[in-house]
Amino acid sequence: MNEKIWLSSPHMGENELKNIQDAFATNWIAPLGPHVNGFEQDLAAYLGQGVHVAALSAGTAALHLALVILGVEAGDEVICQSMTFSASANPIAYQGATPVFVDSEEKTWNMSPDHLELAIKDRMDKGKKPKAIIVVHLYGMPAQMDRIMDVAKRYEIPVVEDAAEALGSSYKGQKLGSFGDISILSFNGNKIITTSGGGALVSRNEGWVKKARFLATQARDPAPHYQHTQIGYNYRMSNICAGIGRGQMDVLEERVAKRRSNYAFYNISLANHDAIRFMEEPGEEYFSNRWLTTVLVDETSGFSREDIRLGLEQDNIESRPLWKPMHLQPVFAGAPFYGGGTSERLFEKGLCLPSGSNLSDDDLKRVVKQIRRVTEAAS
Ligand SMILES: *Cc1c(COP(=O)(O)O)cnc(C)c1O
Repeated sequence: MNEKIWLSSPHMGENELKNIQDAFATNWIAPLGPHVNGFEQDLAAYLGQGVHVAALSAGTAALHLALVILGVEAGDEVICQSMTFSASANPIAYQGATPVFVDSEEKTWNMSPDHLELAIKDRMDKGKKPKAIIVVHLYGMPAQMDRIMDVAKRYEIPVVEDAAEALGSSYKGQKLGSFGDISILSFNGNKIITTSGGGALVSRNEGWVKKARFLATQARDPAPHYQHTQIGYNYRMSNICAGIGRGQMDVLEERVAKRRSNYAFYNISLANHDAIRFMEEPGEEYFSNRWLTTVLVDETSGFSREDIRLGLEQDNIESRPLWKPMHLQPVFAGAPFYGGGTSERLFEKGLCLPSGSNLSDDDLKRVVKQIRRVTEAAS
């Protein structure tokens, strides 16, 4: 059996282990310490726009705190991009609120600004103004942020930008993760950089970022004893994980360059395949970190995305269908949805190819060869 090729696996640089050793040497083995502060500063400096950052235990925790800070409560409604990972939507349910799902558009596969506006109008007609809008940059591709922010401003609804997959991407030269009223990042093991597990809450509003740190450390009021006037959470990032994160920040730009070159390699190698369509950057404003290379498979060609996925699996190569839209998930059955069939169509045809920054040229060639084998046998 050939060696396993993963979809997206962790890729350490040179400084991560040194930073962990430093944490041991100084005994900062806790969810606070110099690496936590340093990682927050590194991220804020990288993102620009005057943002502040709270390092947390997960991207999901960051989304949850974002909703808490924006005052989302039981019975409220929150708009969320339907095509995404469940972690974008689950925190709405944690708050006892109702998700209102919005379809994607064809250009970026992210939230359709037209359907967003339709959804807001209809919810308001029905008597409830949505409390927040959660927009996602899938696979690193920027959503149409000008139009989304424009709609959000017009109706005065705060935007939570889920940039979990998009650190290193930019839109009109501005880094993703700096657009939202509150933005979130993830450093899970499969993301473009990782702290093993971790996340961050980002905002230009320093008060909100301080509030996030307060809530993430059990909401302890200033007193010599443990005093609480609010419900808190245990969501802070460990100093060990933050040490890994600082090492990963040193290599972030290299990781982006490598993932973009994976995309370029696949695109060129499979260019003669009419039935396999790559997701292009829709214009100069869009710069994707190419976290994952994704393709759409035309099923009239005699093979499907499942044929390709299973063919890759036979050679011990991991690939995965695109995110299954949330409005099709059993757990969110009955939640309102605004859209046409775009995200459903993308889900049926779409496949994510191995995209790690640690893939060798031989790995990439093996993937292409196996795709050729499957598709040429069928057509
Ligand atoms: C990974 C991911 C998250 C969750 O981040 P965790 O750090 O795993 O909690 C949220 N949203 C999207 C779109 C993601 O891909």
